[in-house]
Amino acid sequence: MRKNIVAGNWKMNTTVPEGVALAKEVNEALKGATTKCDVVICVPFTHLVPVADVIDQTVLGLGAENCADHKSGAYTGEVSAPMVASTGAKYVILGHSERRQYYGETAETLREKVALALENGLTPIFCIGEVLEERENGTYNDVVKAQIVDALFNLSAEDFGKLILAYEPVWAIGTGKTATADQAEDMHAHIRAVIAEKYGKEVADNTSILYGGSCKPSNAAEIFSKPDVDGGLIGGAALKCADFMGIVNAF
Ligand code: PEP
Repeated sequence: MRKNIVAGNWKMNTTVPEGVALAKEVNEALKGATTKCDVVICVPFTHLVPVADVIDQTVLGLGAENCADHKSGAYTGEVSAPMVASTGAKYVILGHSERRQYYGETAETLREKVALALENGLTPIFCIGEVLEERENGTYNDVVKAQIVDALFNLSAEDFGKLILAYEPVWAIGTGKTATADQAEDMHAHIRAVIAEKYGKEVADNTSILYGGSCKPSNAAEIFSKPDVDGGLIGGAALKCADFMGIVNAF
């Protein structure tokens, strides 16, 4: 059966010493605590090795926020999936709306990234979500379906089953404006139906679908109570241990 997961996305925040201190604090808070979900932090590339050194990954999973769409070679400034895997990290966020919006990521590049992540034993946390205009003009279900079909439906059922999906309405990211629990549930149920249509009910039922977008300790419990919401991808609130743990404990 699918897992409940709360994953932090630190984005481009914290220096290495600050990030190591935050990771240690979260790791300490989780040790000995009883949680009803897996907990992961996705950190900047520079932080992967020093954070891996100070956390217990049986308690707190570690991931990157991106990886390259090539395995190796003359791609100055890029970091490959094998490099990420060699740090000990087990997860990688792919297709975040900030990457799509500011760095021109397309379904084609994302297909490459997903394939390389899987080849290297990394679990992609694959992000999808509509912009405000698409929410307002009513095309959001079609937009999200196309994002899934175009970037992921080349995968075998076995490989698709290795993914975590994150529904992140772009209008809710970092804006303080959260989707209502009912809006999140409607979209998550839609996503599960799209998966079932292609891969069958068992794969769909086993896929963890996280909600992301201004999730906080005060709204997490209501959102997580919905049957198709299996946790959260957390930006701003992942940067303070108390807030992040408040969301983890919302389960
Ligand atoms: C995100 O960027 O993945 C995110 C959910 O951000 P925030 O929680 O800050 O809206």
